[in-house]
Amino acid sequence: MFIFLDIDGVLVPEKKFDKPVSQEEYMKFDTYCLNEFENVLRSFEQAKVVISSSWREIFPFEVIPPLFSLDIRARIVGATPLLEAKIIHNFQFLRHQEVIEYLCQNQAEDSHWVAVDDIPEHYAPDSPVVATDPYIGFDQNAAKQLVQYLGSFRK
Ligand SMILES: [Mg+2]
Repeated sequence: MFIFLDIDGVLVPEKKFDKPVSQEEYMKFDTYCLNEFENVLRSFEQAKVVISSSWREIFPFEVIPPLFSLDIRARIVGATPLLEAKIIHNFQFLRHQEVIEYLCQNQAEDSHWVAVDDIPEHYAPDSPVVATDPYIGFDQNAAKQLVQYLGSFRK
């Protein structure tokens, strides 16, 4: 099972920017949000995380796993591919398409997956998406929803 993880509005809540932050601070996940997210992962050891955030376009992938706790880093297995500019206009739900592309490239089309994003409209209606409040980020409520999805995959 895969979790496609957005970062801004999920592990970096917008409330962080109520006060000015340095570039170095920007690159840190919110402690509360990270803890809520990682605790879910600790209960579902088969779940792997793929980064779907625009961070994958800004930073090299290698800088992202070290932002997670030591016991979780190895579970951050990759990032969704960037679709070619030429074909992007064909897709209404771009992030959803990138997820499908990732699963395809990894021969994992039959795997269960769930996305975590503060903009659920990136995905087709009725897709498995845990929507976060961008201002608050990944909270207890999001954790509960993610547990529900992952739990349903185990059955
Ligand atoms: Mg976001």
